[in-house]
Amino acid sequence: MNTLKIENLTVSVDNKIILKDFNLTINSGEIHVLMGVNGIGKSTLTKVIMGDPTYKIEEGNIYYNDILLNNMSVDERSRLGIFLGMQLPLEIEGVTNADFLRSALSIREKESFKLFDFIKELDKNVELLDMDKSMIHRGINQGFSGGERKKNEILQMYMLKPSLVMLDEIDSGLDVDSLKVIGDSIYEYYKKYNPGMILITHYERLLDYVKPTHVHIINNGKIERSGDVSLVKEIEENGFKNISSKKFVSTSECIIKEKLKNE
Ligand code: ADP
Ligand code: MG
Repeated sequence: MNTLKIENLTVSVDNKIILKDFNLTINSGEIHVLMGVNGIGKSTLTKVIMGDPTYKIEEGNIYYNDILLNNMSVDERSRLGIFLGMQLPLEIEGVTNADFLRSALSIREKESFKLFDFIKELDKNVELLDMDKSMIHRGINQGFSGGERKKNEILQMYMLKPSLVMLDEIDSGLDVDSLKVIGDSIYEYYKKYNPGMILITHYERLLDYVKPTHVHIINNGKIERSGDVSLVKEIEENGFKNISSKKFVSTSECIIKEKLKNE
């Protein structure tokens, strides 16, 4: 059993508080969907779990299997089995997809890394995801369309086999066929490897393929409401503002308003 535990986490970026006293625990085999209006801090949460130094932990702790992550690098966290499929995957010039995955896996697996097995597995997964074979020999995400980048994130997940998977708007910008391939492949991965998962999405459609165990709405820097998949339906039908008792605001907005009031 693997467990991510976030305790009283307060995060700032650019001197604005984005998450405040945030708490969440995720075990293997759980799929947690995070929802909330644009700019509320969903991506911030995933980036701070992954160790992006742009996001500053002001207070609180993040543990994975009781190991404190707060001061660990992205690489160290990745080696613990944590993975982030980003909302806007970056382009990296000069390093091909195949090179990147080979070096990540050979560092991790050391002597047990077998090049032949690696190539076989890469080919199998490229086929599974219905990707163009030439993509693995191109620079990471270079000239890839939005949908191709999202598939590439899932390819990395399949190759690195993380035990904690975070997918940030993996379904945005996909045509219906690609959405099915990606949705099915995420759920296949889940059934095969039993990871803990965080899914960020704005659409019910992805959840036709991937069945969440928990759904949370983020507001005001923390989880405001949790429920099961019926909560997604409620949001879809009524919109965020009708299911919240309060106006949806990010904490940075609150703090700025507070300041203005005092001036
Ligand atoms: P969401 O994913 O919920 O749409 P984000 O987590 O991306 O929201 O952003 C939360 C808030 O933090 C927004 O106001 C956004 O502008 C701000 N923010 C995020 N990253 C940065 C950054 N690198 N520099 C400055 N502000 C940022
Ligand atoms: Mg986001």
